[in-house]
Amino acid sequence: MTIKANDPSLKSWIEVPTDSDFPIQNIPFGIVSFGEGPKPATRIGNTVVDLSILADFGFFDELDIKDLSVFYEPVLNDFIALGKQARIAIRERLSELFCESCSELKTNEEACKLALKSIDEVEVLMPVAVGDYTDFYSSIEHATNVGIMFRDPDNALLPNWRHLPVGYHGRSSSIVVSGASIHRPKGQTKPNDEEPPVFGPSRLFDFELEMAFITSGQTSLGESISVDKAEDHIFGLVIFNDLSARDIQKWEYVPLGPFLSKSFGSVISPWVVTLEALEPFRVEGPNQEPEVFPYLKAHGKRNFDINLQVFIQPEKGEPSLVCRSNFKYMYWNMAQQLAHQTVNGCNINPGDMYASGTISGPTPDSYGSMLELSWRGTKPITLQDGSQRKFINDNDAIIMKGYAQNDKVRIGFGESVTKVLPANP
Ligand code: MN
Repeated sequence: MTIKANDPSLKSWIEVPTDSDFPIQNIPFGIVSFGEGPKPATRIGNTVVDLSILADFGFFDELDIKDLSVFYEPVLNDFIALGKQARIAIRERLSELFCESCSELKTNEEACKLALKSIDEVEVLMPVAVGDYTDFYSSIEHATNVGIMFRDPDNALLPNWRHLPVGYHGRSSSIVVSGASIHRPKGQTKPNDEEPPVFGPSRLFDFELEMAFITSGQTSLGESISVDKAEDHIFGLVIFNDLSARDIQKWEYVPLGPFLSKSFGSVISPWVVTLEALEPFRVEGPNQEPEVFPYLKAHGKRNFDINLQVFIQPEKGEPSLVCRSNFKYMYWNMAQQLAHQTVNGCNINPGDMYASGTISGPTPDSYGSMLELSWRGTKPITLQDGSQRKFINDNDAIIMKGYAQNDKVRIGFGESVTKVLPANP
């Protein structure tokens, strides 16, 4: 299938700054407030487009969409539930409307005045009501680093790791959108092996650089999704900062896994970039040895070449780049993750979120957490202002960025920004 909206030669009559994450070839979806409640929107350059106004003016009437109310709801869940074909049709229609050669919307002054706003004039909100949330652990470099640090350098990966995408069910209520202020969590830790646990603010506040996909499909309990069909159930992706309190995690995680060390906040980028927009950036994943079970055997290019960056910005200072990684490093891809999630008959819904796990690359500057970057605090990182970090300080901001780029087009995600506040008294 040819996706016309992906044509790199397309230009929009809306101005798009050079190096924008949001050229006309992107057309992401999100929720914004134009001052009168949350509305579905897309973004071209620094212009935000209110989809409800376009629906008011009949610009979607020709499409085969049964219920136009999806363009008026405060979250994208019902819009997402329309599924892949409708999403493609809407994206193609938007591409057409904003294309240089099309005058249909451009010449409708009233519609433009109502629908188009500068990004500075709007509040960008949480795109979906997250139903269920899974966090995987699918980067082999990350799992290996953690295994070396906490267990045995000679047997860094646990015996199950190359056989299945390890994951756990997380907390969806604490997933919030970029711009969030998150308090340092309090909890139990055990700083000294010889002494009893203590209670207080976490001392080892960390980020995890992840991507998350959002499902569009709905299955019944008992049904499974095959690895070959899995991508048909995926709406799109966001950047996902899985904030982590390492000291709380270390004491609490045995034997059932992470709990309160993760559920005090996870921060996503606001614009959901569709799988279609990312099509030009498919790449082969790493070779999987030993051979995986047939239900996990994915054919073709299932990884995506998406550059990822993490910056730390002190309260009074410039952001310092501390990590450069790439989504293509994932050992287990999204199709395998969703096939595995549902192989037991677990049902899924539109708006569910599945995070990749920390995305680390092969080199020390590509590690996706402070735990790895500072190697458990033994190698502090120096920021531009000369200050050092082993983990994250109060009043630091964590900024994550992601973009895919070839010689013709750049498809980006914008940012996930988290301000870290001191623990609540
Ligand atoms: Mn995680």
